[in-house]
Amino acid sequence: MHESVQNLVNLKSEILNHISKFEIKNYNPNIIAVSKTFPIDKIKPLLDYGHTHFGENKVQEALDKWSAIKELNKEIKLHMIGKLQTNKVKFAVKLFDFIHSVDSLKLASKISNEQLKIKKKPKIFIQINIGNETNKSGVNVKDVNNLYNECINLGLDVVGLMCLPPIDYEPKKCFEVVKNKNDELKLNYLSLGMSNDYLQAVEVKSNFIRIGSKIFGQRT
Ligand SMILES: *Cc1c(COP(=O)(O)O)cnc(C)c1O
Repeated sequence: MHESVQNLVNLKSEILNHISKFEIKNYNPNIIAVSKTFPIDKIKPLLDYGHTHFGENKVQEALDKWSAIKELNKEIKLHMIGKLQTNKVKFAVKLFDFIHSVDSLKLASKISNEQLKIKKKPKIFIQINIGNETNKSGVNVKDVNNLYNECINLGLDVVGLMCLPPIDYEPKKCFEVVKNKNDELKLNYLSLGMSNDYLQAVEVKSNFIRIGSKIFGQRT
């Protein structure tokens, strides 16, 4: 078995063990294989294995790598997990099935315009900035409800909330804040957890876990 596939298989069984150990009910998370920086020949074994959810953080890189493959394989779900520049929205709405990084009215409006033009609605996560870190994307917790309402008025298909925990912050605490917000807004999906905190994300039943290095190895 190819190494990245073996890594994915191991990861899934570790998650299943955690689910049964913690007796977490009615829960089956999707693993997004975050393939940013990796060329398509490193991704190919996972595609051949039948994995369908992949994540990228740059629009141009994603276009180059995925346009042709997505045309051939309609099962593939592509997730935009990085900061989205408004001048790239046109391409992003066309290519991606999910956008995890909506954090401003300006961005939401642009997505709204583009999805009307091509009659395709990507599923949207609103990204929260828990620590109010100035160097990080995301909307402040106190402004989430406002942005959510604006997104709904603009016709966006908002499915949930996404967050990257601050470095000096207990991931589980961060995840719980986001989960509570999600429940308050009656949203169905959470996008929480990366290679170093996915088990904590499992404990709050995150539906989409974004895993890069644990599957593909270290990025250079
Ligand atoms: C790169 C990235 C990931 C994956 O990171 P790993 O630590 O390699 O698993 C997940 N989410 C976002 C937003 C990322 O940019």
